[in-house]
Amino acid sequence: DYQEEEIDESNFVTRPPVVTIMGHVDHGKTSLLDKIRSSKTAASEAGGITQHITAYTIKQNNQKITFVDTPGHAAFSAMRARGASVTDIVIIVVAADDGVKQQTEEVISHAKAANCPIIVAVNKMDKEGANMDMVKAQMAERDMTPVDWGGEIEFIPVSAKTGEGIDDLLENILLQSEILELSADPEAKAKATVVEASLEKGRGPVATVIVQNGTLRVGDNIVCDTTYGRVKAITNDLGKQVKELGLSETGRVLGLNEVPVSGTIMVAQDSDKEAKDIATTRAEHARAKELSKSTK
Ligand code: GDP
Repeated sequence: DYQEEEIDESNFVTRPPVVTIMGHVDHGKTSLLDKIRSSKTAASEAGGITQHITAYTIKQNNQKITFVDTPGHAAFSAMRARGASVTDIVIIVVAADDGVKQQTEEVISHAKAANCPIIVAVNKMDKEGANMDMVKAQMAERDMTPVDWGGEIEFIPVSAKTGEGIDDLLENILLQSEILELSADPEAKAKATVVEASLEKGRGPVATVIVQNGTLRVGDNIVCDTTYGRVKAITNDLGKQVKELGLSETGRVLGLNEVPVSGTIMVAQDSDKEAKDIATTRAEHARAKELSKSTK
């Protein structure tokens, strides 16, 4: 029931890519996400933030890239099913000493279904048994032929341990992003995807979002599926309070009346009444549906 609004492209500007890293367990997804973040965040800014976070934005050659961690393939599919595919580019991480495994295969089919560009990061290149050609051959068998073998998929050798290849990976993401010509309207009513949400002691519902269109500001009246409220505060990925989040940026939003479901879309409304009305109508519909199901 999300209304399609008329799109005025005159205000469109280039927006940064949103990238997801997926792969078989233990192939280094988390290590890679953490290494990219720590190597691209100035020590002064990072001040003690060492824990893993769900989404962050870095700069490579002055261009932004947002990374989002998906807790599992199930969540990724759920988001897609809700029509909220937040990802522009998928990185499939394959350990160079282990090769293609069952979850790698699952990820390949998810990525293909999502119809977004794929880059293969061949990780753990620092290890003794690393074998780039083995990975390439296994992937080629699955219709993922490397560019240097006449196919279309870029394979980037990396090590989340030493940092080798990370810059190549980021450069490649920017190249792919350029081809995609991603754009959105910073002046539009804010629209953001919830990638994670929880109830926090003393703060209430907190939603981690990625802005897909417009600019999300403190004070905005928002509706998110059946939840609503007014943006009370926003903290960015460095834990700093900010007044707004721009295109493809990520942050944690306080002010919803309840915890929204991951994958739902937060939309700014003109008034608090409007936000409340939309959310309560949706909640009533959902309840009515549940009731009719249980009485059948
Ligand atoms: P995930 O399950 O895909 O998130 O994998 P993790 O990031 O948790 O990594 C699994 C294990 O592999 C951990 O013990 C990491 O320290 C190790 N690891 C990850 N990347 C590398 C790498 O590039 N080189 C080496 N030698 N070890 C790595």
